[in-house]
Amino acid sequence: MEIAVVGAGAMGCRFGAALHSAGHQVQLVDPWVDHVAAITRQGGLLVEDESSSRLVELTANLPADGTGSPTLILVFGKAMQTASLIGAVRHLITDTTVVLTLQNGLGNIEAIAQFMPVDRIVAGVTTLGTELLGPGRIRSLGDGDTHVMQADGRQGSTVGTVLAAFDGSPITVDVSPDVQIMIWSKVAFNSVLNTLCSQMYAPVSALPAYPEFWTVAGGIIDEIVQVAAAENVTVDGAKVRQTIAAATDPEMSGHHLPSMLQDLINRRPTEIEHLNGEIVRRGRAHDIPTPHNELIWHLIRMAEATRDQRISELPH
Ligand code: NAD
Repeated sequence: MEIAVVGAGAMGCRFGAALHSAGHQVQLVDPWVDHVAAITRQGGLLVEDESSSRLVELTANLPADGTGSPTLILVFGKAMQTASLIGAVRHLITDTTVVLTLQNGLGNIEAIAQFMPVDRIVAGVTTLGTELLGPGRIRSLGDGDTHVMQADGRQGSTVGTVLAAFDGSPITVDVSPDVQIMIWSKVAFNSVLNTLCSQMYAPVSALPAYPEFWTVAGGIIDEIVQVAAAENVTVDGAKVRQTIAAATDPEMSGHHLPSMLQDLINRRPTEIEHLNGEIVRRGRAHDIPTPHNELIWHLIRMAEATRDQRISELPH
């Protein structure tokens, strides 16, 4: 199968390498010039894991140079890039192209649907994790689950294309009717942990040190549950709390720095508009007050706006 991965950061590269190993013709497409140049120079992507490092012979192109008529396009940039990425490769989209998004945040399906019919879009969630080590180099972080469904709610040939692509790859993908619930639950998880760690400049394991952590987290989650319900998605707030409690356990992955904090530190834009920001906007549309999410939304945008003036010690 001819496949393009558009937005080939950490996750796009990992999925591209997995699809390549299943025998597909995979092209990475990304606007980061140094990354595309490194992959081309190396003759592929360097993929590390706990025990090895290997070169995966993938090609990479800037969006304007993307070629062919892929059967499947994976969009895997950050949520705020989705519309510009898919718009930049619209020359690759044919009447039969299927697009898959496994990105975090709300609004990815809507952004892709500006360029193609919704019945050719597949959405999903993945718990796989990957780190971008530098141009042309990634590290795969353990295993995880990936669930998908057609964005129109049907189970037809569109999702069949995605399943066929992953058949024989190291990534197991299954179809679940609960993908919208999973997307919103992950939004709730990230709207608490990503944002609060970014405010505190601390790993997830640090948050429960504040005795009223759950007062803050609960306020954010309860509002998201209400907004999701107004969009006919039933999010189980208690389950989100359990997942957050497990994630903050230092014995688990608690010392992890969420991607939003890494983005802030690395002076890159965050996905805040697709987390708490989108909750605020959708809350307004449904007349549901979202004061906790609104304050968090402001605080992260403020952290972005003031990051160059953040002090790490008192001036002498
Ligand atoms: P990423 O930050 O690795 O890449 C996103 C984009 O930023 C790519 O276009 C990449 O080329 C570009 N980029 C990265 N570093 C750059 C630099 N130094 N200079 C210029 N451009 C640079 O994004 P990701 O982590 O792969 O995430 C993609 C989506 O998947 C997001 O929605 C994210 O929330 C989600 N997600 C990520 C993980 C993970 O472990 N990384 C896990 C699950 C879901």
